[in-house]
Amino acid sequence: MFWEKDIETMDGDQLYRMQLERLRNTVESASRSSYYGKLFKEKDIHVENIKTLADLRNIPMTTKEDLRKEWPYGFLAASKDDIVRMHSSSGTTGRATVIFHTMKDIDCWTNQLARCMYMAGLRKSDVFQNMMTYALFTGGLGFHYGAEKLGAMVIPAGPGNSKRQIQLMRDFDTTAIHIIPSYALHLTTVFEEVGVDPIKDTRLRIAFIGAEPHSEKMRRRIEDFYGVKSFNSYGLSEMSGPGVAFECPEQNGLHIWEDAYLVEIIDPVTLEPLPDGQEGELVMTTLNREGMPILRYRTQDLTRIIPGTCPCGRTHRRIERIKGRTDDMMILKGVNIFPIQIEKKLMDIAGVGNNFQIILERKGFNDDMIVKVEVQREYFTGDLKELESLRRTIVNELKSDILITPRVELVEPESLPRTEGKAKRVLDNRED
Ligand code: ADP
Ligand code: ZN
Repeated sequence: MFWEKDIETMDGDQLYRMQLERLRNTVESASRSSYYGKLFKEKDIHVENIKTLADLRNIPMTTKEDLRKEWPYGFLAASKDDIVRMHSSSGTTGRATVIFHTMKDIDCWTNQLARCMYMAGLRKSDVFQNMMTYALFTGGLGFHYGAEKLGAMVIPAGPGNSKRQIQLMRDFDTTAIHIIPSYALHLTTVFEEVGVDPIKDTRLRIAFIGAEPHSEKMRRRIEDFYGVKSFNSYGLSEMSGPGVAFECPEQNGLHIWEDAYLVEIIDPVTLEPLPDGQEGELVMTTLNREGMPILRYRTQDLTRIIPGTCPCGRTHRRIERIKGRTDDMMILKGVNIFPIQIEKKLMDIAGVGNNFQIILERKGFNDDMIVKVEVQREYFTGDLKELESLRRTIVNELKSDILITPRVELVEPESLPRTEGKAKRVLDNRED
């Protein structure tokens, strides 16, 4: 059941002591970087002043912007000779950030991923097809090393080339996949096209899905089509990459590994800490990184700590699936809307296909939301009246949740633009 039982089920006091010791080490090693060295001097921060975990609050938070400004080496805390790898973020919201790892960092991260996958049920006997990009992006290599450490056979398939993916699955009896959820939905149409039914014709049993927000409904769609149990995987390059938080077989929140990170949830406006249960921005501190320790990193991701304990026996707290980034929020006619709200509604409506796109436009003082929705083939070729009634249902369902009336356009399956990486859900054509 457990990869490292003593750590995964560690009691609160023990965990606290471990975190405090690691935090002190982190502050000490961070002070060797030019960024924190200067900051600590300015703010008179010394490791001797870190006596409890609450003392962390005296350290200013670090933002994505700070990392960007210090490009490339401002946060480097180890000798360059000891660095064995660099990675970078995807650059979804602007210029990418870069992270450096020592061999020990890579080992810790790899072990964390093995822990996650083992928790979800991956074993030595599994064949693991990794359909993530192998490059600067952390999703490919991170999982690759983790699955090898666990002892599974890894197929480093990388993304795209859908027909070959299906062929690999069949020829090598793939049992587990790692895939971006929007791509997993797209791949369903390729399965249909080549006449392969993943439930009957493959041995798939586990999917790891992550790297972008997705709703519970979308997960269920993936599980139903592929006949797998699918596990939400959360991570970000600044905190090493995937393996930061992961679902256990309870599928009720993601355990965030508190031996490796200190976790805070803050109000993104006032920056005040929020109690467990309340939604806010996730802020994290690395606890075992040598190459590039980061303190109180504002992830911009919105979630909450799920109060209470998990029946699986792990003591590390759980976060709720990520709602989105703070800057994913669309403000329309004074209403705050996240793309995931739209997705959640759409995935629940029979006839809705695998992809959608939100377009924002401004006419005079009026903001408009256009939602383009791919419909399933049989609807598209069917009765026009039925199509119109589907369109109306979508308008009404969306309106009931987001309170404004979007313009809904139904489009053919597979006609909306898609990427090999994270889906781009929103096109904002409004001028500032
Ligand atoms: P970038 O921030 O440029 O996209 P990364 O590749 O490091 O670069 O991606 C990390 C980000 O991806 C996270 O901060 C989060 O916004 C998003 N993300 C990763 N995993 C998930 C997940 N399981 N659910 C929702 N969002 C996720
Ligand atoms: Zn659990």
